[in-house]
Amino acid sequence: MEGSRPQEFEVDIGGAISAPEAFGASFDVAPTAEALELGEGLEGDPALAFRRTLGMFATGVTVLTTRVGEQVHGMTANAFMSVSLQPPLVLISIDRRARMGALLHQGTRFGVSVLEARQTGLSDRFAGRAAEEPPEAAFEVVHETPLVEGALAHLVAQVVRSYWGGDHSLFLGQVEFARYGEGRPLLFHGGRYERLVSDPRVFSLLPRELLEPIVALGEEREYADGEPIMRIGEPGRELLLVLEGTVRVERPGLSLTLGPGELIGEIEVLDPGGGRIADIHAVGRVRCQAVSRDALLAALEADPRAAVALIEVLAARFRETA
Ligand code: FAD
Repeated sequence: MEGSRPQEFEVDIGGAISAPEAFGASFDVAPTAEALELGEGLEGDPALAFRRTLGMFATGVTVLTTRVGEQVHGMTANAFMSVSLQPPLVLISIDRRARMGALLHQGTRFGVSVLEARQTGLSDRFAGRAAEEPPEAAFEVVHETPLVEGALAHLVAQVVRSYWGGDHSLFLGQVEFARYGEGRPLLFHGGRYERLVSDPRVFSLLPRELLEPIVALGEEREYADGEPIMRIGEPGRELLLVLEGTVRVERPGLSLTLGPGELIGEIEVLDPGGGRIADIHAVGRVRCQAVSRDALLAALEADPRAAVALIEVLAARFRETA
């Protein structure tokens, strides 16, 4: 509705907030549609190019739920964001054509279930994407609000404001319940589902009889307590097997200790140009067997069974993210 006054309502959410409550919350005139300029190389339908550009922003996937009498209505949404910690606020953006939008009013409670990596079927179900046998959704009710069982995190919020958002409506929700569990999130990027692959093992998954001859081509090395073994960004020209002692692996969001029999630098040795992805230090005296990339490639050439097994491990990894 170009040019019309945005639909807006608000309720007193209580509590003192010192900063201005909002900027531009009330436009007298909604912005008019301007021609969208596309960057070089983006020809064709501007709306599609805009959509694809937005799709470069990776998000999680949620199922929004609300109760209508005894009925539950759910809808998949990735336009979800955190807004404020005090008071706790979140925002969702809903297509004006979606049934969900018509069900949300001032004071309505809605649930946000942050989907877990394996819940693609539920995401499709609540997006109305046809599947022959979509998985059944089970709900638990918290604060009179249905939440999807098995999700990674749950929030219950009450609509406190709504804003005009072009062909979408924005609903600001004050959060009254929050919890999260262990697991990995389902991601959405470039119009498709993605997953985080946090398992860096590749060579470690090879059968012992194939791995041992490869490692045997390496040379032994010793590190003193605290000595760096690998640094983030360095080229990954070697694969190391810890023979004795422990090593500390650290990178943003990850910190772990590895011991005898475990391999380090498995991914980077296959992609030495990409650089090391973690800092690794010796904890106490450490002995390692270091296998150079050249020795490793020679071993794979010498025993094609090892090369095939490696390809199978990598293929399984791709399947995990497909
Ligand atoms: P419907 O289309 O009527 O319902 C959605 C589906 O959920 C239907 O298949 C329905 O059968 C099923 N369903 C509803 N309730 C239940 C229940 N109780 N039990 C079992 N099944 C039920 N749209 C947006 O507006 N904003 C977004 O941020 C957004 N993000 C998206 C992200 C992804 C990854 C995807 C795939 C879609 C997204 N969509 C988004 C599109 C949106 O999910 C669909 O347009 C959806 O169909 C709109 O739902 P609706 O409220 O109109 O209800």
